[in-house]
Amino acid sequence: MYGTEQIISGTIIAGSELEPIEGYICIKKGIITEIGEERTSSTNIIAPCFVNAHTHLGDSVFKDPPLGRVSGFRIQRDLDALVKPPDGLKHKILRETPYKTLIESMRKSLLDMIETGTCAFADFREGGVVGVAALNKALEGLKLHSMILGRPAEPELPLQVVLAEVRRILLYSTGLGMSGANDLDLELLENIGTCTRQHRKFFAIHAGEKDTSDIEKALSLEPDLLIHLTNATKRDLEDVADAKIPVVVCPRSNLITGAGIAPVAEMLEAGIRVAAGTDNVMLNSVNMFAEMEFMSKIFSIDDRQVFKICTLNGSFVMGSDSTGSIQKGNKANFMILNGSSNNLAGIKNPISGITRRARPDDILSVLHS
Ligand SMILES: [Zn+2]
Repeated sequence: MYGTEQIISGTIIAGSELEPIEGYICIKKGIITEIGEERTSSTNIIAPCFVNAHTHLGDSVFKDPPLGRVSGFRIQRDLDALVKPPDGLKHKILRETPYKTLIESMRKSLLDMIETGTCAFADFREGGVVGVAALNKALEGLKLHSMILGRPAEPELPLQVVLAEVRRILLYSTGLGMSGANDLDLELLENIGTCTRQHRKFFAIHAGEKDTSDIEKALSLEPDLLIHLTNATKRDLEDVADAKIPVVVCPRSNLITGAGIAPVAEMLEAGIRVAAGTDNVMLNSVNMFAEMEFMSKIFSIDDRQVFKICTLNGSFVMGSDSTGSIQKGNKANFMILNGSSNNLAGIKNPISGITRRARPDDILSVLHS
């Protein structure tokens, strides 16, 4: 469609406030050149694409792990046994996976993202320089905005060796995405954080997933982004808000790992910018419709907030406000949903309707620019 003007009509979820308007969108060379209000007979709903703000795409090699032993009616989850580096099951499997298989598996997940309406993602990529290269390779030719956050493959090596790898990772990535402040020596993490900042790159870290014990340490590293904060206290949230650090929550992942339910309403109340991610592909699909529906049902926040968390807030986290909303001058990244599908027919409020019940099969087409 490049070069020619394209006009699409329907109900548009427009602007940073996600205001539904009946009208049309003009697109030229992949940019939204005009949005106009006009009565239309089209039942299409034009919605911003999702931003999946936290993934581990490497896990695409391992989609159905054992989830724990059943004890009475409860399943005992062991998060460390599954995901903690270096001996968690996923890391053992990643080490044994041939490079080609890793790339092919990640590419499948990237294609799945595109098919399910996601236009941008931020990935914590394990495996050092080679791991980052694998994701860059998997992304070749795909119109997805990416934030690749690598990490050193062997952090137990001497400091200068680790930092040399960090510098190489930074050449091919957006920054660093570290496991957690309890998983490595704090001084090493400080060195990695400093090195990342010196290169003007992005530093992100998991915190407060299992308990609160790593939150203060993570904050001391002055990260650009925190992932989870599932178990954060009110005081923790105030500290995060004061430091103006955005947070990515992963509700489906937290539920399946037994980490709990993130205090999203409290985060928003504290003034924290909250985005969402589907986290490990071994635990969840990369389908953001599923994440959004889940969030709309477990958190006591309104549907518009949930929608924003899954779109605009994610693009803020990625430093690109021009992807997560439909506005004049923005890149045309949106999906056209069939408002008269068997699932969506009859919805009165497009925001609530989409947030609570839309599915990938309601998508008529997705525009990526
Ligand atoms: Zn994670």
